Amino acid sequence: MISAEMTRLAHSNSAIRAMFEEGNRLASIYGRDKVYDFSLGNPNFPAPAQVKDAILDVLNEEESTFVHGYMPNSGYPDVCQAIADSLNRRFGTDFTGGNILMTVGAAGGLNVILKTLLNPGDQVLVFAPYFLEYGNYVRNYGGELAVVPPNLPTFQPNLEKFEQMLTPATKAVIINTPNNPTGVIYSEQTLEKLGEILERKQAEFGTSIYVLSDEPYRELAYDGAQVPYVTKYYRNTIVGYSWSKSLSLPGERIGYLVIPSEIDEYRLVFDAAAISNRVLGFVNAPSLMQRVVKRCVDCTTDIGPYDANRRALYDGLTACGFECVFPQGAFYMWMKTPVDDKAFVEAAKAYNILIVPGASFACPGYVRIAYCVAPQTITNSLDGFKKLAEKYGLTK
Ligand code: PLP
Repeated sequence: MISAEMTRLAHSNSAIRAMFEEGNRLASIYGRDKVYDFSLGNPNFPAPAQVKDAILDVLNEEESTFVHGYMPNSGYPDVCQAIADSLNRRFGTDFTGGNILMTVGAAGGLNVILKTLLNPGDQVLVFAPYFLEYGNYVRNYGGELAVVPPNLPTFQPNLEKFEQMLTPATKAVIINTPNNPTGVIYSEQTLEKLGEILERKQAEFGTSIYVLSDEPYRELAYDGAQVPYVTKYYRNTIVGYSWSKSLSLPGERIGYLVIPSEIDEYRLVFDAAAISNRVLGFVNAPSLMQRVVKRCVDCTTDIGPYDANRRALYDGLTACGFECVFPQGAFYMWMKTPVDDKAFVEAAKAYNILIVPGASFACPGYVRIAYCVAPQTITNSLDGFKKLAEKYGLTK
């Protein structure tokens, strides 16, 4: 008999994954171009040419034992230093290589830091809607997830409710900006207020409460929007980053944690996190990809194609009468459903449209439409969305 927790997970397989599999099934019947699969945040655009060049240059120019060997569990020191320098240039921060720990993507980074921080029974707060994997990651280490209800219509965090939910058992708060699934960027004002509340509550409880800022979408911000660097607003902040989305490298599993020197027990947290990387079985982040990202550290992302998709989808959906949050970042459209979100998702399947119910992000009444797809997927799907709008009496 396998573990009770894994039995539960095996039986409740992620709705997003299930939708992805449904997409493959429909494609085998109707053809790939007749299926409008908006279910997964898998970038449709190839990695920039610089990435391929960097891979070839690493292989041609660097010593092979070095490229493929073990290194410190926290990563190659020169790679960590290059990342710190880049962050300092771009965000006016003051990090050194000793603040950077290379991880197996953002998911690996979150697991490393949660393993480092949590004792069984510790509470971790998240703001709905949120990336549902957080719950699994927190439970991996015996933590208890508490969900702050959503704040409509802005979808900035609900800070009043948040303050009421903090307890002496709160060890961490996970935030995600730009946000999956809403596309909202948390404002400076929100982060200042969040920081004030946490400083006050830490003093009241005599505890340390760490903000874990999960930022795989940091580089995907539209219309010149700035994504505030969270360490500036609250001292006990640890940042998780990955190149999965910004450089279209989700399968390569490469990211990092920023563990600033100012946080409580910095030395112990950093050293323990490096050990977490080891004992979780990651050992270290992929060696070749560390060498590659060092060469791409200032590589900018062309968000033009995502922006064009964002506008085409938003305009198309609102013209049908749907209400959407206009995304400031990431590549997700968050749309209000005229009926129960799960029923709406089922109805959409009749038009070969695959989307994810808001319930999968702890926020029913909405759906997430991932627009990291080919532009024609959007254009060709709009007829189906129009029919859905007609079905529910929304058409303007
Ligand atoms: N965090 C959020 C909010 C995400 O949306 C994702 C992936 O979709 C991840 C973390 C995992 O990213 P990675 O592939 O870098 O592990």
